[in-house]
Amino acid sequence: MTNHLASSMRERMPGPGKIFIDPVGGRRLTYGDLIGLSGRMANALVDYGVRPGDRVAVQVEKSVEAIVLYIACVRAGAVFLPLNPAYTLVELDYFIGDAEPKLVIGAPGAEAGLETVALARGVDAVATLGTEADGSLMERAAHFPAAFEDVARGPDDIAALLYTSGTTGRSKGAMLTHDNLLSNALTLIDAWQIERSDVLIHALPIFHTHGLFVAINTVMMAGASMLFLPKFDAGEIIHLLPRASVLMGVPTFYVRLLQHPGLTREAARHMRLFISGSAPMLPETFQAFSERTGHAILERYGMTETGMITSNPSEGERIAGTVGLPLPGVSVRIADTGTGLPALRGDIGMIEVKGPNVFKGYWRLPEKTKAEFREDGFFITGDLGRLDDNGYLRIVGRGKDLVISGGLNVYPKEIEAEIDLLDGVVESAVIGVAHADFGEAVVAVVVRAEGAVIDEATVIHALDGRVARFKLPKRVVFVEGLPRNVMGKVQKASLRETYRDLFA
Ligand code: ATP
Ligand code: MG
Repeated sequence: MTNHLASSMRERMPGPGKIFIDPVGGRRLTYGDLIGLSGRMANALVDYGVRPGDRVAVQVEKSVEAIVLYIACVRAGAVFLPLNPAYTLVELDYFIGDAEPKLVIGAPGAEAGLETVALARGVDAVATLGTEADGSLMERAAHFPAAFEDVARGPDDIAALLYTSGTTGRSKGAMLTHDNLLSNALTLIDAWQIERSDVLIHALPIFHTHGLFVAINTVMMAGASMLFLPKFDAGEIIHLLPRASVLMGVPTFYVRLLQHPGLTREAARHMRLFISGSAPMLPETFQAFSERTGHAILERYGMTETGMITSNPSEGERIAGTVGLPLPGVSVRIADTGTGLPALRGDIGMIEVKGPNVFKGYWRLPEKTKAEFREDGFFITGDLGRLDDNGYLRIVGRGKDLVISGGLNVYPKEIEAEIDLLDGVVESAVIGVAHADFGEAVVAVVVRAEGAVIDEATVIHALDGRVARFKLPKRVVFVEGLPRNVMGKVQKASLRETYRDLFA
């Protein structure tokens, strides 16, 4: 048996001199370097005591070497477990306790705290990896040869333990197999026509499926290159557009690019594809971007547990407000939220998905895993949506965000869309808040445009007659900005917490 993911990567590799990662201004990493350095690192991992199936928890800042470490883990047959560098030691303790990694790798300077947490949890070793190719892991790797015989791993073996974003509750560890990652990368390469000549601008974090697997696996399996930025910077990205062909971003990237005067048709002339995902993109953003640059942003939909599920087409119509069509090999269906039976076309229901991209289950949560799968193998995403006549999927929101007021369903997105149309509104989030009479009452949290005078009464009055009475917000509150995480996801759970006692 070979190493399913690594052997495919080798087969598809361009010449060793081809640039894989260009950390603009820093030392570039070729595909040859990737193999050499990941070999040294894999040898070091084995030396730290990492055996096939062991988890390697990695909480480091974004760097080229952190990507190489991911590949080293794959080659060593380990399970790569990336963690948000923003997590505190208390949060880290949860992940380490849950995942029981063999080795924890943190930022140089963070060892003391890390060791306290890790050693108390029975972790064998702690190492460091910095952004300047520094740290104890690199030192140890330097003592080993580049040659490393990849550990045999089958398609069904776990390659990564990726925790969900924790938007709806505590983060869950999703077990992703070699074939989950490989099949999704190959599907995306086809769907988005990624070629060796492509150059991706990488400005996403690398602890999340978007920046890690969607971006890196597709580039690597296509033998393409990337321009690698530590974080999002609108000016820097606009400056790089003439050297690039693809950008992957969250909707906030596009909102911020639009705020930059440098974003012009001319600046984006060399680009082939702008992709958006991880959170819903407003149709206004799509429209404004298209007017400014002539590019229709390609929106796609996926999740940690499944990789990418649907995508607007590379060739063909990209429809704002939709996340496109199921990717080849991926089955999507809409189930009635009450009965679980197939919903009628056009009706809102639970999005369910099946395919080689769907994860093996939640780490050490067999009951939860069982509850989230149907008998016939479909995974219940927790997202509500409907299919248009042309087969395009529209996401209506998360099941957990659905408001039930007076026994009737209110889909927040419908109300948000109406509010967002009003003059003086930047954006909005609609939530359900406990209410003695209605069970839940609709509450709108609105961000006012600078200098706008719109108030609660105006919003409610404007909506009256446009949406049914029971959907009208009982209260409208104004805020400076909506709480978002780094992936641009609105934190509705935190809003619900903030306004919990609004009607108490
Ligand atoms: P948790 O599962 O811990 O609550 P999370 O669901 O936010 O967190 P992720 O796996 O990072 O964790 O995100 C997947 C979710 O992101 C999807 O279920 C969906 O709700 C949302 N999402 C992804 N892409 C899009 C998109 N294009 N439009 C709307 N929502 C999207
Ligand atoms: Mg989720």
